[in-house]
Amino acid sequence: MRFNPKADISGGRVKDVRGGGGGGGMGNLPIGGITGGGIGTTIVVIIIFVIMQFAGGGSGAGSSGPAETTDRYEQCQTGADANESADCARVAVALSLEGYWAKVLPQQTGKQLQATQIITFTGGTTTGCGSASADVGPFYCPTDMTIYLDTTFFEDVLEGQLGGQGGDFVEPYVLAHEFGHHIQNLLGTMGRVRTQSGPTSDSVRLELQADCYAGMWTRGATGTTDQSGVQIFESIDEGDITEALDSAKAVGDDRIQKQGGGDVNKEQWTHGSSEERMRWFTTGYNATSIKQCDTFATDNL
Ligand SMILES: [Zn+2]
Repeated sequence: MRFNPKADISGGRVKDVRGGGGGGGMGNLPIGGITGGGIGTTIVVIIIFVIMQFAGGGSGAGSSGPAETTDRYEQCQTGADANESADCARVAVALSLEGYWAKVLPQQTGKQLQATQIITFTGGTTTGCGSASADVGPFYCPTDMTIYLDTTFFEDVLEGQLGGQGGDFVEPYVLAHEFGHHIQNLLGTMGRVRTQSGPTSDSVRLELQADCYAGMWTRGATGTTDQSGVQIFESIDEGDITEALDSAKAVGDDRIQKQGGGDVNKEQWTHGSSEERMRWFTTGYNATSIKQCDTFATDNL
């Protein structure tokens, strides 16, 4: 992956916050259907988690007052910056995701893209879905239409606990998956989720579809541009696709269950197997229409 040094990435909607909650940890995050202990718990949440419901009435925030935005991304102005720093790469990827879906969504569904944003935090923060602690992997909160992530997740969990191979395209895959949940939110797909676990559950279908959408963006990313029409990416190569697939494999439910030292129990699946996740990413990568990502319309997950 290489960004175009000349691209203007200053419009990327990413901000970093400090303070403002975290006191309650995961306990306040009503993550339905999460089962298993230890690594399993961390992981299922992971990547990729979508918070489907949230406790009504109050966010359950910590006592430290409103979060403050930091200057973490102030230096991220160009594609050259994105080539130099993972923080700026995140900003550039956010801009590319927005550009891609702002075009593809209306073309293929007639719906307009609504703004989302990415908020990074350290330790904990308050979200529209309750308090998030560092234990929680990247997730999308439909209530405030925001993607949240503690960036230590990638090294500590995805490469550490889950044994992913890493690489600079791991995070773009994860962000694209979360952005996929935003697309599902806008399309009303999230409201179709009734069954929360099991190999053909709605939850698994939702997650595999987000992987499929991530594949679609990966294929189209090199065509995305900044506000002046300058390409954001210079290249996304085979190695990047391999990294995305390896990450999809690392977060498969069967893999996570094995890494946690337990047996593979399909009835507890919420995100799909490694094989399914890789396959749906690939389906999206090769898709010519968003309809090909309709995981709700097939029995062949
Ligand atoms: Zn997800």
